[in-house]
Amino acid sequence: MNVKKLAKKITAGVTAAALGTALIVTPTAEAIGLGDAIGIGVGVIAANEQINQVKKQIDMINNTEEGRQALYQKFREEYGVEEDYELNARLDRIMSNLSAAVAKVDGTITSKPYLYFISQNDTLNAGCGMGHVMMVNRGTFNYIDSDDEIAAIVGHEMGHGQKDHAASSIKNNLNQQLLAQVGVAVAGGTTLANLIGSLALTHTIADYGRGKEAEADNLAWDYILNTNYNLGAPAAVMQKFVDLEKGHKRSGIESFFNPSDHPDSSKRRDNYGKKLYEYSKKHAEVDKKGVVLVNKKAFVTPAPVGKMSSAERAYFVLGNLAAAYHRGYDKQEATVSNGTVYLGSQAIITPVEGDEDAATLATRLNEIK
Ligand SMILES: [Zn+2]
Repeated sequence: MNVKKLAKKITAGVTAAALGTALIVTPTAEAIGLGDAIGIGVGVIAANEQINQVKKQIDMINNTEEGRQALYQKFREEYGVEEDYELNARLDRIMSNLSAAVAKVDGTITSKPYLYFISQNDTLNAGCGMGHVMMVNRGTFNYIDSDDEIAAIVGHEMGHGQKDHAASSIKNNLNQQLLAQVGVAVAGGTTLANLIGSLALTHTIADYGRGKEAEADNLAWDYILNTNYNLGAPAAVMQKFVDLEKGHKRSGIESFFNPSDHPDSSKRRDNYGKKLYEYSKKHAEVDKKGVVLVNKKAFVTPAPVGKMSSAERAYFVLGNLAAAYHRGYDKQEATVSNGTVYLGSQAIITPVEGDEDAATLATRLNEIK
């Protein structure tokens, strides 16, 4: 089939789902649209054949340049493209840095580079669909100032992308639907068309499941390790979600935290916290109250800055400490240079209004490091 027509046909049903797998909760009523693909009134065996056809078409979209370009265009039309120069320049830099990092871990990225854009959507969200087609909502930039944190989100999406989570989820969902159809057909239930209709209303193809979410989080860590971004950023961005969840249960950001889609944000933060602790050779961590500890002793409780909460910023300090300990800089003195506290050549924290002064922090670090 002509790829453009094919993309239209498939994405009419699965567009939202294909992109949504990662971070977006899709409008479930539109999520599947299998009625088109399967036809009305066909039997289970015919449906099985049709599903195999759909799977082949999914592979074509996921794996061929023609297919994924068609999907990319389709998504750009559907979600709208934010053209703001500055935002696009930021995302270009982040994608370039992360793509280089991913290439060190997983060489397949070179044959399937990401096709990405900023959508005209003001919620905090991002997603990676089939064919490495990625979307970051412009709202993400309204909630997050730090490129390190945006990189952490994009890294998670690239984890989904590198493991083809979108295509495999859609295929699994097709299988589940077929099983359900067989069950009802055997029991002499409704027509296939009705069944598909009801499944489309009650299921979302976009549910990756927690195993895949954890896998994407862990891959994001591996990717960030191969960049110059702050290693605390993945934990910090999870802390941001914890903070946002408290005050905005029903807002546009809620979809990001949907528990059926992603594990609890605090657990995801703590997963990264453990990695940071190990990376620091078990010297540095953030406790439950958001205090940065060095060798189990309080080092600093940072002041909030801009859109960043105190606890969120604590993870940035932790990221710097982890990098310093990992490189053995703790054998050198903590010093102050131009208002920034250093451990060896690693910057640790630049105090702002509300923080203790740099000299006090450096002295304390020397006492407990
Ligand atoms: Zn995800």
